[in-house]
This record gives sequence, structure tokens and C-alpha cells, in this order.
Amino acid sequence: MNGADFRTVVVGAGFAGLSVAQALRDEDTAVIDRGEPLDPAEAAGTLKVVMRAPADNVYVPDIDAQLRSLRSGLIRNDVVMPLSTMSVNLYSYRQGGISNWWGGYAARLTDATFRRDGVLAWPVGLEVMRPHYEQAESLLHVHGDPLVDDYTMAAELPGWHHWRDYFAGLFPLARVTPQAKNVSGQHGGNSGLCLGNGQCAVCPNDAKARPSNVFPEVNVIGRALVEEIVFSGNRAVALRGQSDGEPFSISCDRVVVAAGGLENVALLRRSALPAGVPPYLGHFFQDHTTCEVLALMPRPLKYHHLGAEGAVEIPELSGELEGIEVKTVMLITPPSRDQLKLALGPTATGSTLLDLQRQMSRLARFYLQMEIPPEWELAVRTRGNEAYLYTLPYLQHLPTLDAVVLRVMDRMMKAGLQVKAVMPHHREKFGGHHYSGTTAMSRTPHAVVDTDQRLIGTDNVYINGGSVLPRCGGSGPTLTIVACGLRLGRHLALPIAINERADATVSTAPV
Ligand SMILES: Cc1cc2nc3c(=O)[nH]c(=O)nc-3n(C[C@H](O)[C@H](O)[C@H](O)COP(=O)(O)OP(=O)(O)OC[C@H]3O[C@@H](n4cnc5c(N)ncnc54)[C@H](O)[C@@H]3O)c2cc1C
Repeated sequence: MNGADFRTVVVGAGFAGLSVAQALRDEDTAVIDRGEPLDPAEAAGTLKVVMRAPADNVYVPDIDAQLRSLRSGLIRNDVVMPLSTMSVNLYSYRQGGISNWWGGYAARLTDATFRRDGVLAWPVGLEVMRPHYEQAESLLHVHGDPLVDDYTMAAELPGWHHWRDYFAGLFPLARVTPQAKNVSGQHGGNSGLCLGNGQCAVCPNDAKARPSNVFPEVNVIGRALVEEIVFSGNRAVALRGQSDGEPFSISCDRVVVAAGGLENVALLRRSALPAGVPPYLGHFFQDHTTCEVLALMPRPLKYHHLGAEGAVEIPELSGELEGIEVKTVMLITPPSRDQLKLALGPTATGSTLLDLQRQMSRLARFYLQMEIPPEWELAVRTRGNEAYLYTLPYLQHLPTLDAVVLRVMDRMMKAGLQVKAVMPHHREKFGGHHYSGTTAMSRTPHAVVDTDQRLIGTDNVYINGGSVLPRCGGSGPTLTIVACGLRLGRHLALPIAINERADATVSTAPV
């Protein structure tokens, strides 16, 4: 320990940080976080109140209400949003970060994503990640379709069978999404009751998997904002910050930066980094963008007939199209009033009320999640203490995204579906939730961390989070973040002489 306060300090108590701490299992580890703990029941109460503020009877839209109920009340924990005019950002520095907010869709990246070449490319393959995925799925208590064999699950997602049958003649590969849940039998009874689909952003019963219910045994020191990593040569020796306005300094033998999509970049940029750190910090920002296609199905839909925030994955409408990975899911929630108007026309001409009802019950929302790949060169940039997104190049690629949507619609029509309307969200804004790629590992020369997630040019700074993933393809990043965290924690548990070694050379193929 060399007299340091802690052997390892993990910055950030979201999924990225707690997964490392869990696997490290070392008493000399401290996890510190800038936020105060979240009480889900209290947050759900706030959500109800702010959605319909009784004093002025003002209706606050869902997302704004969620933002208010999940945000931190501590000084310096506000995030200036949006991070760019083209992105719809959701962010929180409450303890547990946006890991408290996620939808629980816990998909592995595909083999094609791991193999894909490009400006960034995975230096390890699916085979290396498989045991870590399995452990991550077990910890996150993933529920899903028992007929699949490409992920492991704790239990069936209620409703899976109905959707298998419903799609059998149309898209035989369709299956419900793998969903992380904090329900029955997990962690000796510390589990919630799932109220069903569509209640999930702030679950009053805490039935959604969140960092503090997935990793209840990891202790977190809260209300501690890390402002800077202090280096001596290539070694990090201390962290400086403030807690409730009071300065603090913690010495340590190594640091794991797991502070989320913006701060993984911003914290490093605020620190005086050794000269050997690669210049790509903050480059190659990745996220997802979306489009909805409304289609008339041959048979009525049972809206909401699925547990958690699940949906139905349609592999036949997914994959790499126009060089972009797209994942298409059918949402289980019914179309909004505006969507109905768009799909059926303002007066739904020629329809009797009965016809209209029939059509409404058959209207499905196909949701296309399209990757924003590293080649588009979006970036996280910083200005003083603030991080923001540089997204101008996104606009250049709108024609490619339009072409992807057309290809998916073509497949839908060939399967016999009537497309009724398109909601091209991608033309207005993009996702803003899946902050990835900005401190990536890579088998190309653009790596910022090596395959052990050590910041190149330093001896003892490690990173976890979406920022280390070189590519996400069409999938959300979170299951992979947890899998990488478990892998990193195990690596750090090895004797210190083995794991702190010279910079690795770049390999040319995933192993
Ligand atoms: C609405 C929404 C839905 C989503 N749905 C899905 C989904 O269904 N599937 C999926 O795969 N992904 C989803 N995501 C993305 C997912 O939430 C993130 O990928 C994941 O939670 C990131 O985890 P993290 O630990 O890296 O970051 P965070 O959860 O943000 O945690 C970072 C932590 O670091 C702390 N911190 C930050 N800066 C400092 C500092 N300077 N000092 C000390 N502490 C600090 C923060 O307080 C926070 O607790 C969704 C996101 C949103 C917002």
C-alpha cells in the first residue's frame, strides 16, 4: 500500500464502477461518488407530483418529470443540457447516475459487432467476453425468452410466449428483449414487485435492476466530487475534490475512472495527464438514433402484454444495412394520439367507428435503433468544467439513415405489413443516452486504453464505462459495461506486479 489511504479508488457508483468493485472484492478499495443516494419510492412520489403540479395545474412532460425526480440536489451536480442542439440528453449526478434511469434492455453485442473493422475495432472477441457476459446476466437477473440460447437468463419474462406465437408466421425469429429486473428471489429477498410494462423509468417498487440493488454489498462514499487526478510521473498518486464545499484529497495506489459518459473524458481533461496519453481522448463519440415506423398488423395487438420495459426484437428487420447496424424492436405500448392521427388520418376517412377501433388495435410501433458509428467523428468536448457534444458531422449522414429506414420498410412490406406512417426522429435529434467510444480500447492505432482498460501512457489509471467500448453496433451498452467491469475487477485482483505492465502493442485481429 505504500502508506496510501486506499489501494484502489473507483470514481463513480453507476453500473460501471460497482461492477469493478464487486469483482475486485478488496477491503482496500473505496468507491466514491459525487451524488446523494436515490430512494426509488421517494423519486416515484416526486415524479407523480411534478407530472401534474397541482398549484398551477401545469402538465410536465414525462421526460422532464423523470429528470426532476432523478436529479441530484447537491451543488455542482447540475448538468447543462442539451449537450448539443442535435441530441436529446438525459443525465443525472444522483448516486448511481443514469444507471438508475435505464430501461433494463440488457442485450449482448453481436459477434458481427465484435468482428467489425473500422477506425475503432474490438481487440477481444465474443468468446473472451462470454464468461463475463454470463456473470453480468446473472447479477442483473436478466429475464427473457427461454427458447433462446445466445444469453443466459434468471427467469422467463412474463408474456414472452404470446409474442412468439403472435409473430410465428410473420417474423419467426422474433423474441422478447432480455430485461434486467430486481424481482423475486434475488439477493436474499431484497427485491421489488414488477407492476408490468410501461411503469419503469422510476419504479416505485424498485423492481428494475439499479446499481445499488444489483451490488448491495458494495459500500459507496457519497457526496464526494472528484475534480482532479494528481500524477507523479506516469503514476496517479491521489484524487482531489470537494465534499459539500469542503476540499478533500485521497491518496491511492491506483484509480478506476467510472464516472459516466461525460465525466470519464472531462475528469481526465481536468487532470495534468502524462505526455504519453493518446490524443484521442473524447474522439469517436457513439450513440444511437431512432426512427419509428407505424404499421397495420394482420391481427389485433395485446398492448402492454409483457413484463418490465420489454419489447419484441425482430432480427429479420435488424443487422447491418447501408454500413450501419440497426436493431428493430416492436414496442408494446400503444401509439400516442398524435401517432394515431398521423397513421389513420385526422378523420380516418370512410371508416365507421368500429373500423377505426379495429385499425387502432392493429397499429404497431416498430422502433429502429440505428448506430452512430465512430467513423462519423462526433466528439465529447470540454469547456472549463462543462462537457458538451460536437455533433455537426451527424447532419452529413442523414441520407444514410434515411436509406436504412427505407431498407427496413421494404422488408416490412415484403412481409405483408401495411406501413401507415413514418416518424423520422433521426432527422430532428438523436438519442443522447448511450455515451460510448470516447476512451476506447481498440485493435487499431486509435486506442486510448489497452485491452486491460488501462489508460495508455499511465501506469495505474483504469477506465470502465461506455467510453471504453470501441463499437456498440445496434445494441445498448450497459450489459457490456457490466461485463467489462467484472473482467477489469478480476484483472485488478491479480498481484499488482502482473497487472501493471508496459503499454501493450496493437494487435490486428480480435482474440
Ligand atoms: C432513459 C435511459 C434509458 C436507457 N436505457 C438503456 C437500456 O435499456 N439498455 C442499455 O443498455 N442502456 C440504456 N441506457 C444507458 C445506460 O443507462 C448507461 O449505459 C449506463 O447506465 C452507464 O453506466 P455508468 O456507470 O457508466 O454511468 P452512470 O450510471 O452515469 O454512473 C456514473 C456515476 O459517476 C458519478 N460521477 C460522475 N462524475 C463524478 C466525479 N467527478 N466524481 C465522483 N463521482 C462522479 C455519478 O454521480 C454517477 O453515479 C439508458 C439511459 C437512459 C438515460
